[in-house]
Amino acid sequence: MRTALFALGGAAAALAVVLLANTATYHSRQIPAEPAPAIALDTAAAAERLARALRFRTISFGGASGVDTASFHDFQLYLQRTFPRLHAALTRERVGGLSLLYRWAGSDTTLAPILLLAHQDVVPVEPGTEARWTEPPFGGSISDGYVWGRGALDDKDNLLGMLEAVEALVGQNFRPQRSVYLAFGADEEVGGTGAKAIAALLASRSIHPAFIVDEGGAIMRGLVGRVRGPVALVGIAEKGYISVELTVHAPGGHSSMPPAETAVGILSAAIQRLERHPMPAAIRGATAQMLDYVGPELAFPERLAVANRWLFGGLIAGRLGATPEGNAMLRTTTAPTMLQAGVKDNVLPSSARGVVNFRILPGDTPELVLAHVRATIRDPRVDVRRYESFLSQPSPVSDVGSPNFRLLERTIRQVAPEAIVVPWLVVGGTDARHYTALTPDVYRFSAARMGPGDLERVHGTNERLAVASYGQVVRFYVLLLRNAAGGS
Ligand SMILES: [Zn+2]
Repeated sequence: MRTALFALGGAAAALAVVLLANTATYHSRQIPAEPAPAIALDTAAAAERLARALRFRTISFGGASGVDTASFHDFQLYLQRTFPRLHAALTRERVGGLSLLYRWAGSDTTLAPILLLAHQDVVPVEPGTEARWTEPPFGGSISDGYVWGRGALDDKDNLLGMLEAVEALVGQNFRPQRSVYLAFGADEEVGGTGAKAIAALLASRSIHPAFIVDEGGAIMRGLVGRVRGPVALVGIAEKGYISVELTVHAPGGHSSMPPAETAVGILSAAIQRLERHPMPAAIRGATAQMLDYVGPELAFPERLAVANRWLFGGLIAGRLGATPEGNAMLRTTTAPTMLQAGVKDNVLPSSARGVVNFRILPGDTPELVLAHVRATIRDPRVDVRRYESFLSQPSPVSDVGSPNFRLLERTIRQVAPEAIVVPWLVVGGTDARHYTALTPDVYRFSAARMGPGDLERVHGTNERLAVASYGQVVRFYVLLLRNAAGGS
């Protein structure tokens, strides 16, 4: 007995030594960055130009509603008038109707170019919510230190920010060594056919950028666990997308003599099984990288846990998975979104139909999702098939060891020295997914600052961006172009 206790005590002591040693050698991944050179920028004037850009109703409605092409043409004319030096120095072509591709020729054609992405379109304002806006959604006004309107955060801030940066650099006679491409899709919010067309065009010209930067991450405060300061989230991967349609056929008839199981009941049971048995959670890929970068910045008990994932992995996954946001980073998510059955309250429907949307974790595939759905429902009365909507594979995961990631990291820390840079999994979708065949280094990041209340403003009510934050967005693109494209 005593020997056994001694052995146990010895094992516990050895374990403590290992845990503490792992924690002690768990160093911050943050790289030092020299202070940013002074960048002359009239932030108020730039914010005014952004505000005006928000007045154009470049809306992607989706579905059968058409596109108001006049709004897009007016918006593009506005860009030409507002950034005259850029339009004189760069070539511009329209792709797939309304999408735009700019090229700023570099002096060294042997260098791979860089590609910056943004989108012209915005989501509609939900009918009935207009009155809840403090400032009208398409008024393009500045008040209380904010630029207000649909597109202020998603994504005209980045589109205009890139143009401001290039306009300023052209004005300073900066000439890039690498060529710089700017690609502005016109229908990102409804799948991104414009981005797809531009990506195909670049591929046909054998253009392989060194790296790509698109929207996705931001500089977040108070959103990442117990990290006190702001965190610059850089999306290094994004999830895939598939919807699955479930259909049940049953004899119809009068509801006064229903069978024990009806079409509605069978379908409901199938959906409930899917919700109760999601696809497995795993700390891997971009989420594992995120923990590697966040861990060393945490205070002691959490830091010890993250430093010893081999032991506490299950605990960490449990904690992270307890919130919908955290859960989405750990697994392919299951979201029933549409239901259809019945025409009258006293008639048994002869069919019931449901649609379930899955966001696919990198490493899983649409085929795996379909197989999981069939195996989980395990009911031959439920017909399972892919719903004919948008489908995308999860993206590859970009390597944080790449010199391009380092360059981005350095640039972010120059603009926001107090922020820690953290790789991240984008759980929504961006235009970047269409470009992943062109280069392995695809980053989803904007230098806009966001706080806890800002996430619901994106696609929601009172979308706005602080004027000072917009200044940072523009400075980020200026520095990124200087750091990456070199030149004079
Ligand atoms: Zn967007």
